[in-house]
Amino acid sequence: MKIKSLKELKNIKGQRILLRVDFNVPISSGGKIDKSEDYRIVQTLPTIKYLIKNKAKIIIMAHLGRPDGKVVEALRLDPVAVRLSHLLKKGIYKSQDILGQEVEKHISEMKDGDILMLENVRFDKREEKGDKKFAQELAKLGDIYINDAFAVCHRDQASVSTIADYLPSYAGFLLEDELNNLSAVINKPIKPLTVIIGGAKISTKIQLIKRFLTLADSVLLGGALANTVLNVMGVTTGKSLVEPKMYPIIKKIKLTDNKLRVPVDGVMAKNYEAKIGRLDALADVRPEELILDIGPDTIKLYEKIIKSSKMVVWNGPMGLIETPFFAKGTEDLVKILAKSKAYTVAGGGESVQVIRRLGLEKKFNFVSTGGGAMLEFLEGKKLPGLKKILIK
Ligand code: ADP
Ligand code: MG
Repeated sequence: MKIKSLKELKNIKGQRILLRVDFNVPISSGGKIDKSEDYRIVQTLPTIKYLIKNKAKIIIMAHLGRPDGKVVEALRLDPVAVRLSHLLKKGIYKSQDILGQEVEKHISEMKDGDILMLENVRFDKREEKGDKKFAQELAKLGDIYINDAFAVCHRDQASVSTIADYLPSYAGFLLEDELNNLSAVINKPIKPLTVIIGGAKISTKIQLIKRFLTLADSVLLGGALANTVLNVMGVTTGKSLVEPKMYPIIKKIKLTDNKLRVPVDGVMAKNYEAKIGRLDALADVRPEELILDIGPDTIKLYEKIIKSSKMVVWNGPMGLIETPFFAKGTEDLVKILAKSKAYTVAGGGESVQVIRRLGLEKKFNFVSTGGGAMLEFLEGKKLPGLKKILIK
């Protein structure tokens, strides 16, 4: 996979660089971004610092949440600009609009190395429609387009994909890093390759599971999505979260395949609000119970497989991580991966949250900023945001 990299771009001094990033991070009720939630911002710092050092004029485009094409005060990008400014130790000008006179005037007065952050691009309803006119209006603000927004590259949207039709376009360092790491998993995996998939819904990850059943040596399941597979295997899971509509699709997978592993024990409780649970084998889940985490025998089994792997990819929590008592399985897994000598790649919104909570992101070879984008890329889908950036 070859891409047009920012590194190839010469003479950027004084050029107006339109930089698309994904700064879609949770904002706390106090209007701030928690230290453990700023991973996506931190990961774009190499690109931004490089542009500052090389004296470009940096115009940042980003989105926050789902404002549905209108101005939503709580979704303005100000807290993001504050956090970025803090991380860069540099002032940033944040405009109240995406386009218009104020923005144009400010750009015309920018000095080399200055940063302007435009307002949430999703405040304009044309963004999510991938509108050409909107993309052209954005393109007029700059000379060069740089995409460093891997996490939104699976969206065919104006500031992500359409804009690349109107400006010379390049990948930022984060996007390049994401593509190098994730394509290595598919194109040149170091064997044995183990893939661990957890999370809430099997319907969102079934394609990934199927693909890795052909590419990987082991596929380990956890979290609520394992329940539906357990059901098909004949294990009753009480009141646990399951997706019966997926039974026919799962029945077509060879479940006796030794590659595919499911949890053998779990932590059960009577409702999602429980603060403590009951540990048992999965054969003995009671009808009134929910499975909310994997148990120690499953962890031991998975640890053994991880220890004999040379590459491990992980996406999706093993349990209800929002409740500390049911986060243990996921936290143990993160610690095992952090210690592992294998090449470790992880991703997914909630998964990364747990890694950062434990402060272990540096112990992984790569932690992706992508949720949906990572899944679609690993499934082998073509991401719209890459169409003008990939050379082949
Ligand atoms: P990621 O964002 O890391 O890809 P997902 O979005 O697929 O992960 O799933 C994360 C969610 O799955 C978490 O909110 C977690 O609480 C939930 N989850 C995991 N295991 C269970 C379970 N056994 N029962 C209920 N919810 C679960
Ligand atoms: Mg998620």
